[in-house]
Amino acid sequence: MAAIVVPVEEFDLVVFGGTGDLSRRKLLPGLFHRFAAGQAPSGALIIGAARAALDRAGFRRFAREALEEFVAPEYRPEEKVAAFLEMLDYQQIDAEGEGGWPALGRKLKGRDGRPRAFYLSVAPQIFGPICSRLGKARLVTPLTRVVVEKPLGRDLASARALNDQLAATFDEHQIYRIDHYLGKETVQNLMALRFANALFEPLWNAHHIDHVQITAAETVGVGARGGYYDKNGAVRDMVQNHLLQLLCLTAMEPPSHFDPDAVRDEKLKVLKALRPIDGAAVDTEIVRGQYSAGPDGPSYREEAGDPQSGTECFIAIKIGVDNWRWAGTPFYIRSGKRLKARHTEIAIRFRDAPHSIFGDAAGALRGNVLVITLQPNEGIELRLNIKEPGPGGMRIVSAPLDMSFGAAVGAGFRMPDAYERLLMDVIRGDQTLFMRGDEVEAAWAWIDPIIAAFEKGRAAPCPYQPGGEGPMESHILLHRDGRRWREIA
Ligand code: NAP
Repeated sequence: MAAIVVPVEEFDLVVFGGTGDLSRRKLLPGLFHRFAAGQAPSGALIIGAARAALDRAGFRRFAREALEEFVAPEYRPEEKVAAFLEMLDYQQIDAEGEGGWPALGRKLKGRDGRPRAFYLSVAPQIFGPICSRLGKARLVTPLTRVVVEKPLGRDLASARALNDQLAATFDEHQIYRIDHYLGKETVQNLMALRFANALFEPLWNAHHIDHVQITAAETVGVGARGGYYDKNGAVRDMVQNHLLQLLCLTAMEPPSHFDPDAVRDEKLKVLKALRPIDGAAVDTEIVRGQYSAGPDGPSYREEAGDPQSGTECFIAIKIGVDNWRWAGTPFYIRSGKRLKARHTEIAIRFRDAPHSIFGDAAGALRGNVLVITLQPNEGIELRLNIKEPGPGGMRIVSAPLDMSFGAAVGAGFRMPDAYERLLMDVIRGDQTLFMRGDEVEAAWAWIDPIIAAFEKGRAAPCPYQPGGEGPMESHILLHRDGRRWREIA
């Protein structure tokens, strides 16, 4: 199966924060891959913008180093690298000052007919100043888009303020709020699986699904970012955005069309159906944790620089979706740092067969599980009960029906990074995989009471050993319901 590349039209992209970490690790390598694949045309113009006193040659050197570090040698033949660097330019600019804007205007002059994107790869505090200066400098054309990333606020009030700042210069159809989890091939495949096959949708409800587990586990700790992380915690860093987005895609009703607003309307309905968790319920439905010191490093509190820190770097939540489809089927989500493995998955656990005709000797019939793995190896697996091969009688074992994408598309296929897909969607003007402002606000509206309860000392973080599966209390959260977490592996 060969991947088909549909080229996008020539475009102009200005990356504010072009010399930053995100640009170096994801944006420049992602753009290069799309160029090398023939999707981004050589007539595209990519302008890095930051305060550093670089010139075009300096930015090209920066980009070359980024490609050498983040693109494997077999994917960067020198002629492609050289041609890509030719597309790059640089503009020294202070987002909060007045210098540099006229020069940026000159670089974009006479190009109003092309798609234009401003990627704000900078701290959210300067989204507002950049947008207002773009407006003032008349750089916003009808074909202009603006791209922003998390953190999109730290509560409902700040998210609204951010949306207002963006809306002062851009229409909602021009605003692309990236959640890179949505750019994962498997996440899009979750929608294909549900809505392109007649097989699953009739079973996709509380009658047939016992529960859903969403896990995002990391092996790394907070490290040098500890002080910054400690102001946010896992609930802001992972739950409000990535995990709730995955929950929405799993739980949403079929949209009438695969178009941006139809999909986002359905996700919004899920967010509005989340059962509120506040007050005493926070203690029973949520477990928080902090890793202790271990052979691989100091404790969370040491890395956070606060021996009394009450911020979580592990969280597990039992969530109810209060609608007809999901009444009685909980969604358990968890995310944590310094765990056993780096692994992100959505697991749909179907109900057990109502009766076993095979008798005790066959063994227990476990409910089928559909597992959508986002990382490290994207793929989809359906666990079925089959007869154990061989002449040993009728014994039932669970076996995977495996669709790892690497195997499906053949050897030598490189799975594109989520940013590659999302950057091309920005140029194509397709917002389906980007969050709408009201979605971001609805997610914060659900999260705010939870954070307020944490601040009053509810669900205080429990210590856990690094390299494991988080605090014991997280296992108890499921055991209480007669269920267990899938192993993090
Ligand atoms: P970073 O490494 O600190 O880079 C910040 C960039 O912004 C630099 O290029 C910096 O260059 C530029 N900058 C800062 N102040 C500026 C100003 N006043 N005017 C113009 N340019 C300015 O940050 P980052 O990690 O790339 O993150 C960028 C944004 O993406 C943040 O909002 C972050 O939360 C978000 N994000 C990052 C990642 C990631 O993997 N890194 C992942 C998700 C989200 P100068 O200092 O030279 O101006």
